[in-house]
Amino acid sequence: MSKDCIFCKIIKGEIPCNKIYEDKEFLAFLDIKPINKGHALVVPKLHCKNLFDFPKSEETDLIEFIKKVAKAIVKATNADGFNLGMNNGRAAGQIVEHAHFHIIPRFSNDGFKHWPGKEYAEGEMEEIQKKIVSFL
Ligand code: 5GP
Ligand code: ZN
Repeated sequence: MSKDCIFCKIIKGEIPCNKIYEDKEFLAFLDIKPINKGHALVVPKLHCKNLFDFPKSEETDLIEFIKKVAKAIVKATNADGFNLGMNNGRAAGQIVEHAHFHIIPRFSNDGFKHWPGKEYAEGEMEEIQKKIVSFL
């Protein structure tokens, strides 16, 4: 738990939330500013900042938890699909520094566009590939 963390306060019940589901490791609740209605957040109950910080012991259970909640959201909202997303770091749009996963129901006519793809220059793709591999 982190004293000033808003999601830790929600987990402790000090700030109310519209809870969807919880178990001993995770809590799912509705995002207060949904991208589409039914947009939910899944948070580990142990405070951690981002994916790199995420406890290894909880990794497998997390996917099961997300699948269960996402299925219920898709059914309840009659969604055509859903996005599972996680912002890691300010540059990626992370505002709350308690690791969390967004489950966003999507509709064929919701008007959101996919991110545009960039072009690699000649040889650049291989260069980046090698550089990434060198850090593994
Ligand atoms: P981030 O940009 O950090 O990935 O996403 C943080 C999310 O938390 C945002 O979508 C925001 O609407 C949501 N959020 C922030 N504060 C609260 C709150 O007090 N309650 C709820 N339910 N959601 C919150
Ligand atoms: Zn926290």
